Amino acid sequence: MARTDAIVLGAGIVGTCVALHLAKRGLAVALIDRAGVGEQTSFGNAGIIEGNTVFPPAFSSDLAALLRIALKRAGEANYHLSFLPKIAPWLLAFRAASQPQRLIETAHLIRPLFASAVREHEALLSEAGAGHYLRKTGWLKVYRKARSFAGLRREFDLAAEFGLPLQALDLGGAQTLEPSLAPVFEHAVLWPQAASVSNPYGVTRAYAASFRALGGVVVAGDARSLHRSGQHWRVETDEGGLDAPQVVVALGPWAGDWLTCVGLRLPFAVKRGYHRHFTAQGNAALTRPVLDADVGYVITPMEMGIRMTTGVEFAPRDAPPTPVQFDRVMPRARELFPLGPRADNTTWMGCRPCFPDSRPVIGRAPGLSGVWLAIGHAHWGLTLGPATGRLISEMMAGETSFVDPAPYRAERFLS
Ligand SMILES: Cc1cc2nc3c(=O)[nH]c(=O)nc-3n(C[C@H](O)[C@H](O)[C@H](O)COP(=O)(O)OP(=O)(O)OC[C@H]3O[C@@H](n4cnc5c(N)ncnc54)[C@H](O)[C@@H]3O)c2cc1C
Repeated sequence: MARTDAIVLGAGIVGTCVALHLAKRGLAVALIDRAGVGEQTSFGNAGIIEGNTVFPPAFSSDLAALLRIALKRAGEANYHLSFLPKIAPWLLAFRAASQPQRLIETAHLIRPLFASAVREHEALLSEAGAGHYLRKTGWLKVYRKARSFAGLRREFDLAAEFGLPLQALDLGGAQTLEPSLAPVFEHAVLWPQAASVSNPYGVTRAYAASFRALGGVVVAGDARSLHRSGQHWRVETDEGGLDAPQVVVALGPWAGDWLTCVGLRLPFAVKRGYHRHFTAQGNAALTRPVLDADVGYVITPMEMGIRMTTGVEFAPRDAPPTPVQFDRVMPRARELFPLGPRADNTTWMGCRPCFPDSRPVIGRAPGLSGVWLAIGHAHWGLTLGPATGRLISEMMAGETSFVDPAPYRAERFLS
């Protein structure tokens, strides 16, 4: 590559989409990763493009739920006891961001980006010739407890205010959509504005192929080597030093290490999560992701089988996996859907990169000229990858951005 206009660090869904959008604007871009494209967090998620998002995840205010989590009986959350003192400040900030009024404010702030999520994927998938991955069949959430369903009132009201369609269903209505679901719940909600993909890894790879077709290069290298070199930034790669005036940091769960290194104090943490694949018994099938809301897991039809993803785990990023949430949810999951034997023999673990208000940071790195951040996509990296790529590339090109980038500024944590 004769000239490099921009270096993108991290080839997950976010970095790959950033690189692709920059290349679409005619920039010469190098996408750097120490592993293969899309092999980390973006490999194993539930594949949901959550165009339906109203509220961000919230710290539970339900005492019974908190007790279940504390006693390590909950499907939705697990923790390593020795990690709690370290994560406590972040959890307190998360709890503060979960106050009802803050949640409503966040819902308004994030809606424009989420409203574009499916459309932005569709455009990139179609350009990549990878439209076969996309299912526009929505996302079904089932509720076993009448109280949980009744608690959705605020979300329904806000969805109506946003013009976001939803279908509140009874058991029969849900079984019409997904006949293999057993009658262990009474209520369900279909969010038609969500979509899903049958192989998130395949999607990231398809976007990387589009990027290469535009002249972009993917190079093996270590982001920790980034340093100033005259007017430029330089990163050392397997092919030698690469210099560029602009750098985008898209290091997913490893962004925290980089932030610490450059002295940027942002409240960054990871929520770990796992997946396993199962066969379906007999002719049982699913046509869309299903959240078992009161138990705390998702089952999604994937190319590899039925993928079950767990809720969150608070533990050090690099600590050995502890996939205990499967033991907690499996009997209930088998009640809901006739899961057969495992379709794989390993358990995948990934780490959701999170800020306490669940909003990513998309924009300039404070105090570091020429450095941009696309980090902290939490539960929504797949959802927001293409929209993030478009937003940051428009900002870098000095164009009017398609949504207001203000809610995503890093400075919200620094004032
Ligand atoms: C169980 C689970 C289910 C999920 N389900 C969904 C879902 O349904 N929908 C959704 O939208 N999101 C979902 N998510 C979240 C989503 O997967 C993440 O938000 C997203 O993958 C983050 O993408 P990323 O590109 O930021 O990070 P990553 O995919 O982790 O990419 C970061 C890249 O940086 C590279 N890197 C790190 N350090 C260095 C270094 N020093 N040098 C060079 N390269 C480096 C890594 O190798 C990696 O390739 C889920 C997550 C989990 C764990």
